[in-house]
Amino acid sequence: MKMEINGKTRTCGLIGNPVEHTLSPMIHNTLAKLLGHNLVYVPFPVDADKVAQAVEGADALQLLGLNVTVPYKSEVIGSLREIDELACSIGAVNTLVKTEGGYKGYNTDMEGLYRAMVSEGIRIGGEQILLLGAGGAARAVAYLCAVKGADKVYILNRTLSKAQTVAEEVNRTVGREVIVPMATEDYTKLPDGKYLAIQGTSVGLAPNTEEVVIADEAFYEKIHTGFDLIYNPWETKFMKLVMKHGGNAYNGLKMLLYQGIIAYELWNDVSVSEEDAQVVYKRLREQFI
Ligand code: NAP
Repeated sequence: MKMEINGKTRTCGLIGNPVEHTLSPMIHNTLAKLLGHNLVYVPFPVDADKVAQAVEGADALQLLGLNVTVPYKSEVIGSLREIDELACSIGAVNTLVKTEGGYKGYNTDMEGLYRAMVSEGIRIGGEQILLLGAGGAARAVAYLCAVKGADKVYILNRTLSKAQTVAEEVNRTVGREVIVPMATEDYTKLPDGKYLAIQGTSVGLAPNTEEVVIADEAFYEKIHTGFDLIYNPWETKFMKLVMKHGGNAYNGLKMLLYQGIIAYELWNDVSVSEEDAQVVYKRLREQFI
């Protein structure tokens, strides 16, 4: 359906820095076209000291919704009128929805990852999980694994104190000792067994495609399934090493797709069909292969 920008067009967007390479406009503008909504989605680069002003300005301009990306997912919380309980527990917000008198903040990264894992047939319940990283994204992953019944989640991070903080917070919230913090170099002390490994650091992201957090190939013998949150490159070094040692490996493009779809659903109060989700996924995928 052809859509023209006119007096009734509603606007959504992305705030972050940088935003030049974002694929989010492709997700939302494709959905708007598929669903016949009069909506446009644009990226807005925001300087470090202007986050509160940007949210205030968006409210004054009555923008329907915003996504928030690196490095403002925690900082933006101070500018919200209301925050969803899950986003509050995670401590990071990636979606703002216009309400009367300001924005309500949500975290769709966690549910997006969950939908991506379900669509790939990856199970969390009862699993032994290795989580590489303890940054904003890894925090949501740790929370997801704990809530969905993982047996144990070993967080390996370069900075041990950050892994400890995430473990304390998530364990307290879910009321059981499910997260175990470790320094990355202690990976040889992991209990024997086969793990689901989730790569949640920024190591290996283009252009540094030959980098990996743990280079020791013996480590990859422990992994039956590897999920990298990175999707650029299409096959990360981490994924290649998992596959070389007999495991299945997935990248983060479906997580990106579903976090966007959930945001779109919140803004427009609709449910996006799996058929439409697949049309968007095909367009995203074409950017890589
Ligand atoms: P972040 O908050 O900046 O955290 C970065 C993490 O990477 C930290 O754990 C950091 O360890 C670790 N790290 C960075 N450089 C490292 C190095 N040289 N060696 C070892 N560890 C290193 O970033 P984030 O927001 O969590 O994002 C992490 C990744 O997830 C990014 O690549 C992002 O693109 C991806 N992501 C994907 C999606 C998706 O939809 N697919 C959504 C969100 C994020 P320290 O704590 O020691 O600094």
